[in-house]
Amino acid sequence: MSQAESQEVQNFFQQTVAAGETPEDQNLVFDPTTGELVVQGKNEKLPNPDAVVADQIAEEGFFGKTSFVYMHENQISTIYQSWKVSKIDQVPAVAFGFDEGEVFHVYTSQPKAHFAGISVTSVIQILPQFGNNDEVLNVVNEIVNTRLYQHEKQSYNIIVLSAIEEDKLQCRVFIKQPDGSLNEGIVKFIPEHSELYSRSQGLLETSLLEDFKVGIVGLGSGGSSVAIELAKAGVGNFVLIDFDRLELGNVARHTCGTGDLGRYKTKSVRDLLYGKNPYLQVETAEIDINTNLDQTKLLLKDCHLIIAATDNNRSRFNLNSIALEYKIPTIFGRALTRACGGDILRVRPFAGPCLACVFTKDFLESRQEEVSQFRQAREDNPAYVPDNEVKATVQVGLSSDILPISNMIVKLALVELSRGKDSGIKSLEEDLIADFYIWANRRDNTYESWPKMEYGSKTPSILRWYGARWERNLSCAVCGERQDTINGDDGFFG
Ligand SMILES: [Zn+2]
Repeated sequence: MSQAESQEVQNFFQQTVAAGETPEDQNLVFDPTTGELVVQGKNEKLPNPDAVVADQIAEEGFFGKTSFVYMHENQISTIYQSWKVSKIDQVPAVAFGFDEGEVFHVYTSQPKAHFAGISVTSVIQILPQFGNNDEVLNVVNEIVNTRLYQHEKQSYNIIVLSAIEEDKLQCRVFIKQPDGSLNEGIVKFIPEHSELYSRSQGLLETSLLEDFKVGIVGLGSGGSSVAIELAKAGVGNFVLIDFDRLELGNVARHTCGTGDLGRYKTKSVRDLLYGKNPYLQVETAEIDINTNLDQTKLLLKDCHLIIAATDNNRSRFNLNSIALEYKIPTIFGRALTRACGGDILRVRPFAGPCLACVFTKDFLESRQEEVSQFRQAREDNPAYVPDNEVKATVQVGLSSDILPISNMIVKLALVELSRGKDSGIKSLEEDLIADFYIWANRRDNTYESWPKMEYGSKTPSILRWYGARWERNLSCAVCGERQDTINGDDGFFG
């Protein structure tokens, strides 16, 4: 506690006495979110969960430096449960420190989410009860002196004490500073999944989406951003398929950064998803679906929805067959040359067009897709075309031109998953009736002849979605011959 702060506490007591009030009736409360000391009645509720009564903790040097220490609620309760059986009362943990020791994250098992910061040794001690402050500090000092190696002591260390008080598992946390001094920090719990996503309840009930399983094939800039948004919306189960690794050239557009270079896109995106919600179920497969079709079918057949975000037509047609075979609604999205725009096809098997009904030779020639990777370009060119010429055909657009397409895919996906249910986005079902959508980012390539956007709303222009009526082709080579199996009354497909 600094001199100025000590003076502030002193002033508070003098003022309350001068005002004829007894200090016993009031608390001096420190609100770390505003950094302010406020006076309030002893029975008043604290202004927010992080606020602390200052005169209770002042002597422990609270004002020296406040640190927030985050822990996963389920990890701490697991340790406590096993202590009850095994009586093992000390558990090693790892903490990551950020911002010059202001924030720490403590883990007792390998973090699922991406982590950064400096790694710091941490010990969790279970106590039958906390005891008084002196006893607590003795326990902490003993752990520091007996459990930590000399080199560990030269950095921060996090000591967590845990005991049942008032029928609740409580934690107190102490941060040993590199200079050997000890501060008490503020414990923050990361709740279990039911609470984590409670905020989006209302518009989209989290419980509505958390049982759904979505397969995402292709985890480039488009597929990865769709995955993140669906996790944020509350989808609880994912299957991620892609055989590519993250390369330097991808980083500018991809959701993952340089910390993931060299890793499979599936696994690095999975970790990003865990960062949003560590309780997700995520399966990954690092396979080329074109050469592993049977395995792909096994992975996708239980999915409620498939997002086809691959960059080649062979994989799209394979996914179309899987969609039809298992009657899984599937959304195909792609970007056009240099991401001048894009298109999205929603396939609701046998209730609308399939990919083969739409992606005819003429269609594909009129709407050239973006070639963003050498591998993709190499596949598009005959073997006699030399690599350097192939390389020249790789033309990458901006990430900000991919995102509108991803965003629309997410909206269509959420409509599909909550179709027929009483959700906050129900009205979208009446708007998004088209199965095929196009988008233009700028008047370029395919959209070169479009009128300028200006003020008009009656002419086609950039930065708007257009839904096209696209009938199912009853003589389609892929879905046409199975028209006898159309079953319009099974509900899910509306
Ligand atoms: Zn078809």
